[in-house]
Amino acid sequence: MKVLFVSSEMAPFAQTGGLGDVVGSLPPALNKEGCETRVIMPMYKQIKEKYIDECEFVRWSMVKLGWRSMYSGLFKMDYNGMTVYFIDNEFYFGHDAIYVDYDFDIERFAFFQRAVLEAIGKPMEFEPDLLHLNDWQTGMIPLLLEAHYKNHGYHENLQCIFTIHNIRHQGLTGRDKIADLLDLPDQYMSESGVLKDGTPNFMKTGIMYSNRVTTVSPTYADEILSDYYGEGLNGILGAQRWKLKGILNGIDMEKFNPKTDKGIEFNYNRVNWKKGKAKNKVAMQKEMALKQDKEKPMICMVTRLSEQKGIDLFLRIAGELLQEDVQVLVLGTGEGGYEYSLRGLESAHRDNMRAIIKFDADLARKLYAASDLFLMPSKFEPCGLAQMIAMRYGCLPIVRETGGLKDTVEAYNKFDGSGNGFSFANINAHELLFTIKTALGVYKNCRSDWASLTRTAMGGDYSWNKSAGEYIKVYEEILKETANA
Ligand code: ADP
Repeated sequence: MKVLFVSSEMAPFAQTGGLGDVVGSLPPALNKEGCETRVIMPMYKQIKEKYIDECEFVRWSMVKLGWRSMYSGLFKMDYNGMTVYFIDNEFYFGHDAIYVDYDFDIERFAFFQRAVLEAIGKPMEFEPDLLHLNDWQTGMIPLLLEAHYKNHGYHENLQCIFTIHNIRHQGLTGRDKIADLLDLPDQYMSESGVLKDGTPNFMKTGIMYSNRVTTVSPTYADEILSDYYGEGLNGILGAQRWKLKGILNGIDMEKFNPKTDKGIEFNYNRVNWKKGKAKNKVAMQKEMALKQDKEKPMICMVTRLSEQKGIDLFLRIAGELLQEDVQVLVLGTGEGGYEYSLRGLESAHRDNMRAIIKFDADLARKLYAASDLFLMPSKFEPCGLAQMIAMRYGCLPIVRETGGLKDTVEAYNKFDGSGNGFSFANINAHELLFTIKTALGVYKNCRSDWASLTRTAMGGDYSWNKSAGEYIKVYEEILKETANA
């Protein structure tokens, strides 16, 4: 079975969040299971600057984009034994950021999708059975495949699976623009085609025209069928319920391993975690110019600063929380208002709060290693990787029971001491505070329960092994169905 992943992000080449992590770690896991998997993504400026010498130029061609004819370069690279292709075009991808401006991004990814379809097969010397598409940036591909290729006798056996990593971002644009960029015949410009309430919608199109749709946790697969989480697409998903499946994301267990991580001050495992974490904590306190005390509970957040992540809940109770005997560190970037509020919080609480406003993957791992508790009070969370990374480092998560957080964190049970973290149900700031205080109570007064929670969290299996197998099953189902069709 041959699968081509199509994505706007892949770690370590270009990443803004969890999508990049998934595309960086799932395809290698599929390869290990014997499913030949390759990846194609845009050649952003940062990739060209860093990796061009390791890339092989495959070919160039002109891609039709409405009335335009655009240069499209195809490069390939061997990345740890896996082939990764890059689509090159300086006008579209020669920018400092991965995403530039909403309207321009529509055009950039319209080009990308057309260029990918032009590259499949002979040009890339790879004829996949399946395209694994990810989020709105790739949602038009199954339709383009049908309208411009299959209807003309090309790629007739090529099938599509579409994965929703975050249903909030759908790729909406004007009718004229999309008709122009994608040369779509009128028959597709309807509510049963690309339109959602009169507006072309990339994600909706991906859902409608793919053989199967997956999302990144079983709970999120249920949630997006509801008004609250469905972002307007719940009706369409409900009608296509048979297509939808939630498969939990995994993390790279080698990269995130406190036993071997060279980036942290002291390595540790499930046996000596107490000593190891204490040393990492004191090193962090030193680095952040906080009082050095290995007993003081350290709470951290590592997050995009966006409304999704429940930053409002944290800000609402932060003043009260900082009255406690704790140290709180927040590492994040994102919306200006949140950055401003966090900086303000730090200046009002210099003794025990630090706001580190940047994206720093090395510091993130040092924080997971140093801290006792990790806050993730998300309003919605398709899967969430940060809570799994935190658990791997023995930093117990406090999460809201939504999406993948619900599927991965089992709340502490005070009667039998079981669990691997703490959780609360409602989008309510004082429920968050109450849960933090409960956790602090366990940290201070029930040390043996704390130890067993930590050992359980650190011993969890967050690998891709099980999920890679589930994806392969879905691939096989698609190919079986279509072979019989
Ligand atoms: P999302 O994809 O919604 O941002 P996830 O929890 O799935 O959330 O993935 C977030 C990933 O990005 C985690 O690996 C987390 O450690 C990392 N991360 C988020 N913000 C930062 C930051 N400011 N610095 C370093 N790493 C970060």
